[in-house]
Amino acid sequence: MKTRYCQICKLPIDAERLEVVPETRLCTTHAHDIQKYGGEFKLVAEQERTNKAGSLKRNYGAVSTSMIRNEEAMRKLRDAHGRV
Ligand SMILES: [Zn+2]
Repeated sequence: MKTRYCQICKLPIDAERLEVVPETRLCTTHAHDIQKYGGEFKLVAEQERTNKAGSLKRNYGAVSTSMIRNEEAMRKLRDAHGRV
């Protein structure tokens, strides 16, 4: 497995951590720190679109959820780190 570095402190991320959370870009320390900003990832629920875009008709179809990177939390964490 190739080494990945924390986007905040540039230290290598623990291999054990990468195994558990392969998508992470944070070391254990900063993954912990980012919790106060809402976490590295957030879960978004999205209504599956079967209607064409712009349609006002409501669609009560399946809801899919996905994990997305919490860019706002990342920015806050980076700002906080930069200030130290
Ligand atoms: Zn870090």
